[in-house]
Amino acid sequence: MTDATQVPFLDIVTPHMELEEELCSVFKAALRTAGFVGGPMVENFETEFADFCDTRYCVGVSSGTDALRFALIAAGVSPGSIVITVPNSFIATTEAITQAGAVPYFVDIDERTYNMDPAKLREFLETECVTVDGGLRTVHTNTGAHVAAVVPVHLYGQMADMDSILELAERFNLEVVEDACQAHGARYFSQKASCWKTAGSLGTAAAFSFYPGKNLGACGEAGAVTTNDRELANKVRMLRDHGQSRKYFHDIEGYNGRLDSIQAGILKTKLRHLDEWNTKRQANAARYDDLLGAHPDSLKLPYEPSWSRAVYHLYVVQVANRDGLQQQLTSAGIGTGIHYPIPLHLQRAYRSLTYEPGAFPVTEAAATRILSLPMYPNLTFEQQQRVAEQLLQAVARTPEGQLTMAAGTI
Ligand SMILES: *Cc1c(COP(=O)(O)O)cnc(C)c1O
Repeated sequence: MTDATQVPFLDIVTPHMELEEELCSVFKAALRTAGFVGGPMVENFETEFADFCDTRYCVGVSSGTDALRFALIAAGVSPGSIVITVPNSFIATTEAITQAGAVPYFVDIDERTYNMDPAKLREFLETECVTVDGGLRTVHTNTGAHVAAVVPVHLYGQMADMDSILELAERFNLEVVEDACQAHGARYFSQKASCWKTAGSLGTAAAFSFYPGKNLGACGEAGAVTTNDRELANKVRMLRDHGQSRKYFHDIEGYNGRLDSIQAGILKTKLRHLDEWNTKRQANAARYDDLLGAHPDSLKLPYEPSWSRAVYHLYVVQVANRDGLQQQLTSAGIGTGIHYPIPLHLQRAYRSLTYEPGAFPVTEAAATRILSLPMYPNLTFEQQQRVAEQLLQAVARTPEGQLTMAAGTI
């Protein structure tokens, strides 16, 4: 199983083989009751995941995308309003905003953490928006649209700088919906509360994905919304189930966005291992840091601020000549990924938003240089040595190996 010459980018087979019997017993239990949708398996998982995130409520839904969309709608984002997020994310972040009827606006990221730069958020709010109604609402000056919410994305398993974002959100009356789809169990030290907080417990609500490759993955599609707000949790419960308050009493129009009980049972089983898996990811990240840390000019490693405890959904480095380097690694049997090659504002799907190249230079520069290395709990030391050896050789072979050069355009 640990052929050290081939290092796959992901291994989601091994953990399932280790838990095979337990996982199969979930399926058998579901067969015996035919309770496939809703029921105690879903409720049990919700209770345990809320515990894990230090929130009062968790509502299981059918995907991370639905979780984001339902959280935004339940938080009061209404059609025509603006929701601010970052261009360095998976498209689900902005799809959910659009599907809630709002328009995504972007602010650039911090070049070291790849997450929302609070200074850019402040600049957008202070220079392009005004507060009205005695400070109760913020309006975008050019369009007159209500600025309703901000979606910080905790990318690669590391949380955004939430104190600063929450402070701005309070000042400008914005809802905060955390995109925690890559950050199950990540922590943030809040100066304001003077304690560590868990991803999903800081905003008005948060969205999690349990897509198979995530730190906590289902054997299929699944997601969840976490919140401390009872009303909001109830609203999400209605939204996921056709707007029903009880069977066939539809208070609003909703969606078919429920978490099925087999996935919930599987997630509950796997949740017991999540802390241990995250600890292994962190240990693997520290090993990569050691193996790769001697070449700061040609290889930029992930940066973890002192206020962050990242769970390394991905281990992302920056290199010059990234595409050539990725090819060399592929030839050497080492799987890598790029998260993400095209910033959202430059995707064809968002042509109508009329952003031009150059609009978000930090994201755009990162998009040409970032490379995600193999990262999973059961990655072995030998595999990491092999990755490091091949990566360092490829970097040394790269003619324009300096990251500081002026090139780096899209
Ligand atoms: C995976 C992911 C999503 C979407 O989750 P799905 O379960 O695939 O719908 C949203 N945002 C981010 C940042 C993600 O990584």
